[in-house]
Amino acid sequence: CLRSSVGVSDFLPVSWERIGGLEDVKLKLKQSIEWPMKFPEALVRMGVRGPRGVLLYGPPGCAKTTLVKAAASASHCSFLTLSGAQLYSPYVGDSERTLAQLFRQARACSPSIVFLDEIDSMVGSRGDGGCRSGVQAQVLSVLLNELDGVGFKTTERRGSSKTMQTEGEEQETIQEKRMELQEVCNKDVMIVAATNRPDALDSALLRPGRLDHIIYVPPPEQQARLAILQLHTEKMPLDSDVNLKDLATQTHLFSGADLESLCKEAALLALQEEGMSVSTVQHQHFLKALQRVSPSLTAHQLLQY
Ligand code: ATP
Repeated sequence: CLRSSVGVSDFLPVSWERIGGLEDVKLKLKQSIEWPMKFPEALVRMGVRGPRGVLLYGPPGCAKTTLVKAAASASHCSFLTLSGAQLYSPYVGDSERTLAQLFRQARACSPSIVFLDEIDSMVGSRGDGGCRSGVQAQVLSVLLNELDGVGFKTTERRGSSKTMQTEGEEQETIQEKRMELQEVCNKDVMIVAATNRPDALDSALLRPGRLDHIIYVPPPEQQARLAILQLHTEKMPLDSDVNLKDLATQTHLFSGADLESLCKEAALLALQEEGMSVSTVQHQHFLKALQRVSPSLTAHQLLQY
């Protein structure tokens, strides 16, 4: 498979167990990504189809990217990733080409997962007050075509209207052809997108057959925070006075990323205060770290989800 600056991504495999909490979300992702990729015949036997695309939404730093990596690792498939920032280019036509190239690569490497991070910034926002640049409109159009399977060969679609047909029949043929193309072209390419701003997305992206499996990735509640703290202190020599349950209680509005930073900060404080020969991280180091690492989430921000 080709490797380029945008596209197939090398990352250390992530196991589902490395993600604290989020049990419901993990199950939904196993059902909608891992099972269709790993056991397609079983799904066909049961008469169910895997989704074409999945949208993960929720506050920043709460494991959306890590979840997709875990799904890709468990599915043993290629993982291609692109973020809104990577897609931006000042040159006319560049962004659309990059996106089309990514999908071509995904088909060449299939079975594959294409992960579009910050999809809202790729396609712009809609509605009152929303704005979409010309480039974003083009990117949206390429993306919709790819989701429909027509990014592959538009000529095949045109061929469908050669015979004389009534308008209704023609519409039906186009619809059938679209479904066929979806089956043929995108069979083993799953599209997963993530956003912190689901309200900004164009409803066209969320129609059936597109990103129609929509999954909320919530901030960690107390039990999940405890699980995350346990994971991120697993390799630390913790003093017996460290009370992770107490820390989980004190970290309301901390994202998973904030909790990871808190653990790192506590370890660095232990080194700073006790010297390089220190052998344990104590509870007081975590309490001091709490004064340096603030929660990145706000109650107001969470109301939008
Ligand atoms: P963004 O919206 O900013 O892209 P995100 O939701 O994709 O963020 P990630 O990039 O997956 O979040 O997570 C950021 C970091 O936080 C990762 O390094 C991950 O290890 C840690 N993290 C977040 N949530 C969890 C969790 N539930 N369990 C373990 N680690 C977590």
